[in-house]
Amino acid sequence: MGNYDAFKKQVVDTAQDLTRKGYLMATGGNLSVRIPGQNAFAITPSDYDYFKMTPDDVCVLDFDLKRLEGRLKPSVESAMHAAVYQVRADVNAIVHTHQVYASALTLIQAPIPALFDEQTRFLGRSVEIIPYVPSGTGLLKNTVAKHIRNHNNAFMMQNHGALVFGTDMERAAHNVEILEKCSLAYLLAICSERKVSKVPLAVREIAFAKLRKDQERVAKNALEASGE
Ligand code: 13P
Ligand code: ZN
Repeated sequence: MGNYDAFKKQVVDTAQDLTRKGYLMATGGNLSVRIPGQNAFAITPSDYDYFKMTPDDVCVLDFDLKRLEGRLKPSVESAMHAAVYQVRADVNAIVHTHQVYASALTLIQAPIPALFDEQTRFLGRSVEIIPYVPSGTGLLKNTVAKHIRNHNNAFMMQNHGALVFGTDMERAAHNVEILEKCSLAYLLAICSERKVSKVPLAVREIAFAKLRKDQERVAKNALEASGE
């Protein structure tokens, strides 16, 4: 087995699971996992059918986007993934989707306030909208890097899709599902034109503090693994 095989398999299994569940469609979206202690990550290839993908098709890149393994073209959002890993030491897995309900909220520029307990516990205080920048550009990478310092784990990119983080791949995939549930519920609530209630502020802050504690523990382990 190669050094990166377990990470590549995780990328394939999660991509196929999220495609089966309808969060990834056709070849849209991309996902990656950090290789601990190596300033590197394993990421889906660009424009490639998730059901055809095997671990050999997954690319391994360092944070300068130098290819360490894989023969296919890496995702056009590789620079954005690398930037997230550099800005957020607590993030070990990233999923970018074009999931429908979160995407719809970006079209009407409706950030999601704190609506549910599991949302505040795992996604953060709110789900903000990152202003529109064309896909696959350096400008998108820079804009994302600027907006993710608030420790939230889910964002919506205007007229594009969702960007979701986790302390591991399983958590990131669960967070994608939580985001879509919140998005659909919020859309339905907005359509009613009635007042949308939120979780009490104190409860939101307690949940967010628990999320921060998880993040700090993971970030500390990551720094120790990289010998810093
Ligand atoms: P890739 O297939 O290159 O990952 O691009 C898909 C995408 O979602 C771009 O934002
Ligand atoms: Zn995209």
